[in-house]
Amino acid sequence: MTGVSSHPVTGTVDDASRPENLPEGWEEWLAFFAAQLPRPVDREEHGGSVTFVAGDPGEVIVELAPHVIRIAEYVAPPASPGTTAPRRRWLGRIYWQRMSPTLAIAAVEALIEAARETRHARFRTCTWCEQHLPPERMVDETTCRRCAIESLGPPADGEGHA
Ligand SMILES: [Zn+2]
Repeated sequence: MTGVSSHPVTGTVDDASRPENLPEGWEEWLAFFAAQLPRPVDREEHGGSVTFVAGDPGEVIVELAPHVIRIAEYVAPPASPGTTAPRRRWLGRIYWQRMSPTLAIAAVEALIEAARETRHARFRTCTWCEQHLPPERMVDETTCRRCAIESLGPPADGEGHA
């Protein structure tokens, strides 16, 4: 992934799932997200678009498609077994080819910032271990799952755990 911004690498990947004629600026966006999103960055390609899931715990999800970039706050998958795909709380979409790259980047940066901020606003500090954790790792406003399991806090009644 080095040197992506200095020369286009379009055509070096022989993948039938990608559109043949990627729009101008596509590789620059890939490089931008690789550099700017919170790490680690998970990258998935399907149907001609690229999805980035960034941060651990997850913070922001970005979908890059030939005409639109969509940005969402990361929402943890439901606790039911077998579900691992995160959900998305959409914040905005940018039709990036309709504006200058400078304006498109500014708009995308603002939405990434908004996604991270709203995500972090949901974090809570566990009263028992004093860790600052995302909602999916808390059983309630004051106790994290680990402390609940280790019975440091009140029992996690009403959660349905055996
Ligand atoms: Zn705790």
